[in-house]
Amino acid sequence: MSRVIVIGAGAGGLAAAARLAVKGHSVQVFEQSHRVGGKLATYRKGGFAFDTGPSLFTLPAVYRDLFLKTGSSFEEEVDLQEVEPAFGYRFADGSEVTLPGVNPARCAAALGEALGADTERDWRALMDRAGKMWRLTREPFLQSPLDGWKTLLPLAKPADVRTIAPWSTLRGLGRSMLSDPRAVTLLDRYATYTGSDPRKAPAVLATVPYVEQEFGAWHLGGGLGTLADALERRCLDLGVDIHTGTDVTNITTNDVGVTGVVVGGEHHACEIVVANADAGTVYHDLLDDPRARKAARSIDRSDTSLAGFVLLLAVRGRTPGLQHHNVWFPENYDDEFDSIFGRDPRPVEDPAIYVCAPDDPLMRPDEDHESWFVLINAPRHDLEGGVDWTHAGLADSYADHILDILARRGTDVRNRIVWREVRTPADLEDSVRAPGGSIYGTASNGPRAAFARPANRSPVPGLFLVGGSSHPGGGLPLVGMSAEITASLIGRA
Ligand SMILES: Cc1cc2nc3c(=O)[nH]c(=O)nc-3n(C[C@H](O)[C@H](O)[C@H](O)COP(=O)(O)OP(=O)(O)OC[C@H]3O[C@@H](n4cnc5c(N)ncnc54)[C@H](O)[C@@H]3O)c2cc1C
Repeated sequence: MSRVIVIGAGAGGLAAAARLAVKGHSVQVFEQSHRVGGKLATYRKGGFAFDTGPSLFTLPAVYRDLFLKTGSSFEEEVDLQEVEPAFGYRFADGSEVTLPGVNPARCAAALGEALGADTERDWRALMDRAGKMWRLTREPFLQSPLDGWKTLLPLAKPADVRTIAPWSTLRGLGRSMLSDPRAVTLLDRYATYTGSDPRKAPAVLATVPYVEQEFGAWHLGGGLGTLADALERRCLDLGVDIHTGTDVTNITTNDVGVTGVVVGGEHHACEIVVANADAGTVYHDLLDDPRARKAARSIDRSDTSLAGFVLLLAVRGRTPGLQHHNVWFPENYDDEFDSIFGRDPRPVEDPAIYVCAPDDPLMRPDEDHESWFVLINAPRHDLEGGVDWTHAGLADSYADHILDILARRGTDVRNRIVWREVRTPADLEDSVRAPGGSIYGTASNGPRAAFARPANRSPVPGLFLVGGSSHPGGGLPLVGMSAEITASLIGRA
């Protein structure tokens, strides 16, 4: 039996802790905040409830596997609900499409009906190709430890390489397979699920809409934060010691490998450390070990992922036509990516607006109110030449600006707001130690990005990484896969 210390109780940290406890290790978790879950959280106030991090749950198979292998079924622990219909998209030219929650063919038919028959045919072909990409990459890449380019050696067949098209961007794939520019815009948006720019992110990200449409869009009754509660319960049932309000300031090492962590000036010895904290923070701030320098430099060379500007709106009355997930696209989507990833980062003037408004009785005070989680992609908080999101008045005036744009795009909610709260990238940095408020650690900008992500096994023996800033990436499904990879690298006690 090894003593394992997990730094951080995000979804990745808790999932790894549960898997390692089942493998017979003695596991302690240190979490700096006063609650578990990290970015995964449901905020409740006055009968209104908002998922302030993940609001769309995909690929439940990952958490089904986790719960089953650590005790009992997922469905016994959370109220898993299919979202149907799932998405309402409004384009800048006024056209709209409502997409079902599951089945690529039904989604293609809905797109065809709204945007024209060519789009149905195009989207079917795209999802067909994306399905092939998914089957080729799931096991060797997403569910295996990272080993540089060698990770993709199982795909050495030329036909497989052509399917993945590692030299193509998501935008390039969209332009080559979709004749309607609105469908290209729709596909572009999936790059932002990994915090990236569709003009640089790899074509293989077409697997993101494929997974959403093939395996469904899901909600958890009461909010996605109930997953954090379920993960915590599972860990406690397995004897994991969880300490909240405990800040790990150092990971200690010797010539052999890790020796423990320092919390509040006190050294806690262990044989294995699993860091769920941001990988950049681990290599730059928590660790002082020459074996980690190369990994630290590799993170420095990567683009950081985009951040998010969040509005929580307690809304009076019901909004006609509102779906569970809603997106209002701007006229010029590229301006959003230039504003975020360009040389002169600035809040996006005319952004895509995402609203999650679950029709969930546990998330609103009564039938006559709605809880709106509004998310706008944003440049990270950066006091050195970037956007200072703490600048007096900026958050409030930007929130007003967003509500004005939404009104111009046909949904005026301004005189129905009972109260509102604003969360900036600086707030996310403060609350869960996400540097700059970046949602996903490093972005997938460029063909090498996926292979340059911090690996789950660090160069320091005994130190492992888990979670959205390490392999295979961010978002709840990949974070869950990351926990599985890390736990299997560590192995049984
Ligand atoms: C606004 C927003 C919207 C999102 N939307 C979606 C979505 O719809 N669907 C989806 O699947 N995903 C979504 N995501 C992404 C998803 O939330 C994350 O990828 C996932 O929750 C990350 O989990 P994690 O375990 O990697 O890390 P985190 O949740 O970041 O947890 C890391 C934990 O480590 C703790 N920690 C850090 N440093 C220390 C230290 N030194 N000592 C002790 N503790 C420390 C932090 O406090 C934190 O609790 C969204 C995220 C955000 C912010």
